[in-house]
Amino acid sequence: MNDCVSRLTLDRLAERSLCAADESQVVAHLATCARCHAESELMQSARQRFAHHVLARTLPELRARRWRHPIGVQLLPSLVAVAAMVAIIPRLWRAHEPEMSTKGGAALKVFARRQGEVFAVKDGAALRAGDELRFVVTSGGHPFLLLGSIDGAGKSNIYFPFGGEKSERLIAARTELPGSVILDNAKGPERVFALFSKQPIAADELQRALDQLGQKGAAAIRSIQSLAISADLQLSIRIEKVDL
Ligand SMILES: [Zn+2]
Repeated sequence: MNDCVSRLTLDRLAERSLCAADESQVVAHLATCARCHAESELMQSARQRFAHHVLARTLPELRARRWRHPIGVQLLPSLVAVAAMVAIIPRLWRAHEPEMSTKGGAALKVFARRQGEVFAVKDGAALRAGDELRFVVTSGGHPFLLLGSIDGAGKSNIYFPFGGEKSERLIAARTELPGSVILDNAKGPERVFALFSKQPIAADELQRALDQLGQKGAAAIRSIQSLAISADLQLSIRIEKVDL
């Protein structure tokens, strides 16, 4: 592709609504055109409020723990890497589509990247420190989403919208949430909750429910699949952080 990429096309790339051929052309163009690369980065930074907040909050802890523990949560800084994920996920998604539940229903999918390989994460899957996670949701007609997690060490995170006070409106029917999460080396379960709703839910309410579950310990995190929050629909997936 010799022509520069329009904002609309960049948006469609981010939403993964381009066909596979166009997508790879755009990704290739971004790798070689400084102007489009810069434009794409601008748009990406607007979308990645979530990731910037993750970094801002995690940095002090990283500094303090640098020599004993590798990484807490980090954003993926490289546009090329983001573009590669954008290109890879739709193919994986299509490959796993038959596993999706009700047609037209809401869905939560987690994808992990380890040493350049991307794979779909099944409920209960064993993952290790350094694995990079991304979340893909299907709204199923629920306009708002709030997504967070709790791990066996009692650490809760609200990932979407990061730093927001309440659920955020999903723009597309299928959305790859901005930013990625790199797993720390705390062992044990981590459970992710996606709360779908017609009206926004306060982030504080989710935070409290996650913290309460965290206090009950690892066994409760493994078994409890919904929180005492009045969302229209809750979807949950558990991972196990292990030494592999
Ligand atoms: Zn260009």
